[in-house]
Amino acid sequence: MDDNEALALAHQVLAYVELLQNAPEVPMIPAPFANDANFISYHEKAAELRSIVAALARGDLSIPITMKGFIAGACKNLQANLRHMIWKVQQVEQGDYTQRIDFLGEFSKSFNTMAEKLAVTIEELRQKEEALTALAISLQQEARRRSDALHELKKSEQRFKELAQRDPLTNLYNRRSFFAFAETGVQSAAALKEPCCVCLLDVDYFKRFNDTFGHLEGDRALQYVVQHSLSELHQPNIMGRYGGEEFIFFFSSVGKEQGYAEADRIRLAIERNTFPLENGGTASLTVSLGVAVILPDEQTEDYAKKLRLGIARADTALYEAKAQGRNRICLAPLAEPTMDSANPSISM
Ligand code: GH3
Ligand code: MG
Ligand code: MG
Repeated sequence: MDDNEALALAHQVLAYVELLQNAPEVPMIPAPFANDANFISYHEKAAELRSIVAALARGDLSIPITMKGFIAGACKNLQANLRHMIWKVQQVEQGDYTQRIDFLGEFSKSFNTMAEKLAVTIEELRQKEEALTALAISLQQEARRRSDALHELKKSEQRFKELAQRDPLTNLYNRRSFFAFAETGVQSAAALKEPCCVCLLDVDYFKRFNDTFGHLEGDRALQYVVQHSLSELHQPNIMGRYGGEEFIFFFSSVGKEQGYAEADRIRLAIERNTFPLENGGTASLTVSLGVAVILPDEQTEDYAKKLRLGIARADTALYEAKAQGRNRICLAPLAEPTMDSANPSISM
């Protein structure tokens, strides 16, 4: 081979190397070296290096690099660093903000700063969340405290309301609340065009009872009268304490005969039973009752007045029952008296 031939061969090799570096595809081995084992071995190594670099360039870190040599070694290092970097990023992703990178130059600086800032931000957020949770808990507790207090207040308001309606000795409706309920009863009876009754009960010779057995026994005797009266009372009839040893009833939807019968059952219940004294003995008690029927009257809507007049008539009837010898019932005549003849002492 002369110099010119050798130069041409060298140019062929240079063109091949040029293509190997820059062409998108691996070039063919120049023809004169097609069967040359050394050239073929170089060609294969160069092709493998190309595929390693290409894989790294597209972010594929999975290919195993077994080649020896400077470029392959550098690629292997780069592959290991990139894998390590990915692992670090994954650690941060899972919440470990202590991770730092000490390779890859500018990237590691930015990565480390980002991890530090993330750690601070996350800590601030955690503290804020903690404060918000504590605030929510204390607000909840405060709301519960207030609702409990409100509940208690409502309960005691209800208790006071009930107490204000009741007579402490007998737990019956007191005069004021009885009048309120009975007035509604008179109004309902008028709406239904039905009669209703008021009935006054007075314990017979109660002063003598007190004088004989003492006032404490007298108090218990009043409770006894109430107990037996209530046991004979039909729903929705009501009983109240009118004052002293006098009680008042409202019988709804009840006319003359039934009103009398209701009153007589009460009278009988008290007469039939004996009052057990504290000292083991017994005492007898009787009561007198006056009953007045209130007829439905379309001419007046002053139900309080109708009730007052009814009570006045029942009071007169009670006086009559006392006059006739006690332990009995008197019915008031049906004709309603005018306000002038009604007992002026009746107040609500
Ligand atoms: P009458 O048969 O005419 O009704 O005779 P009475 O003795 O029952 O009548 P009077 O009105 O003279 O006496 C009523 C008595 O009732 C006088 C009073 O001391 C007594 N009394 C009134 N309220 C109470 C009370 O809450 N407890 C006790 N223990 N006694 C009372
Ligand atoms: Mg009396
Ligand atoms: Mg009496």
